[in-house]
Amino acid sequence: MGYSERGNQEWQKDQEKGQTTMADILDGKALAATIHGEQAEKVAFLSKKVGRPPGLAVILVGDDPASHTYVANKRKACHRVGIYAPDINLPASATTDAILEAIDTFNRDPAIDGILVQLPLPSHVAKDKVLLRISPDKDVDGFHPANLGLLVAGEPGLVACTPRGVITLLDRFKIPIAGKHAVVIGRSLIVGKPMALLLLNRDATVTICHSKTSDLAAQARQADILVAALGRPEMIGRDYIKPGATVIDVGISRGTDGKLKGDVLFEEVRQIAGAITPVPGGIGPMTIATLLDNTIDAYRFHAGLTA
Ligand code: NDP
Repeated sequence: MGYSERGNQEWQKDQEKGQTTMADILDGKALAATIHGEQAEKVAFLSKKVGRPPGLAVILVGDDPASHTYVANKRKACHRVGIYAPDINLPASATTDAILEAIDTFNRDPAIDGILVQLPLPSHVAKDKVLLRISPDKDVDGFHPANLGLLVAGEPGLVACTPRGVITLLDRFKIPIAGKHAVVIGRSLIVGKPMALLLLNRDATVTICHSKTSDLAAQARQADILVAALGRPEMIGRDYIKPGATVIDVGISRGTDGKLKGDVLFEEVRQIAGAITPVPGGIGPMTIATLLDNTIDAYRFHAGLTA
C-alpha cells in the first residue's frame, strides 16, 4: 500500500519505525486508457444528440520525425474515441500566410471544434502570429492570450493540456491540492506558468522556480507536490525531495541510448517520495487524454450544451 491517499505524516511514521515503502507509482498510461474509454462513451452519446461528432484539426508543418510521431498519436487517440480528426500536413516550405489560411478555413468550419498547430514550426514561420490566429473558442492547446487571461482570472476557458492533465491525474489519484505547498520547476507558457496558476486556483501555496533560482534543491524540498518541468534529464535527485512528497515528472528528453528520460532520477526518488509519475507512461499519455477533453469541452460549447 502506498501513500498517495494518506499523505506525508503516515509516510514519516513508517520511516521512524524503520519501514521503508517505495512511492506509489502514478500510472498515467493506465489512467489515460480509462479516460479514453469514458470519452468514447461520452462522444457516442453526445454525437447522437448533436448530430455530428466533435472535430479536431491537427496541423502538422514539415518533416520533424518527433512531431510526426506526436501527431500520429493524437490522431490515433481521436479515432479511438470517435473524434473526427482530418489529416492536415503542410510541407516544411509552407509560408506563414499558407498556415494562416489553413487556420482560417478551420476557424470557419462548423465541423471543427478544436485546432492545434504542432510545435515546433519551421524557423521561417512567425509562430506567435500563427498561434494568435486560432479562434480562442477552438484553441484546444490553451496558448491564446484570451485563454491565458481567463486562467489568470480563475475563469473557465481552454487550458494547456499538460498542466490540466497533471491536475486530472492528482484528482483521480485523490491527492489533495488545497492548502498544500506546490513547487513548480519551469516557467514556460506551455507548462510551468499555467501549471502554477492551476495549482493556485485550486488553493495550493505555489512557488515557481526557474534557471535563475538560487538553491533550487532547498526550494524543491518544501514541496508537498513537486512538478518538474525543466527539460534537464534526471537532474532531480533525492536532495530535492521532501519525504512523502508527490513528484510529478513532466520532462521528456531522449538520452544518448535513445531511451526517454524524465527530469527526475526515478529509482532514487521513488525511495523517498510518497508518489511519483514514471517517464514514459506518466504525464505524456495524460496530455493526449486532456487534448481530447479540451476538444470535447469546445464541442459542448459550440453545440450549446452546458451540463
Ligand atoms: P522550456 O525549455 O520552454 O522551459 C523550461 C523551463 O525550465 C524554463 O522556465 C527554464 O528556466 C527552466 N529551467 C531550465 N533549466 C533549469 C535548471 N537547471 N534549473 C531550474 N530551472 C530550469 O520547456 P517546456 O516548458 O516546454 O518543457 C519542459 C519539459 O517538459 C521538456 O522536457 C519537455 O519536453 C517536456 N514536456 C512534456 C510534455 C508531456 O506531454 N509530458 C508536454 C510539454 C513539455 P528559464 O525560464 O529561466 O529559462
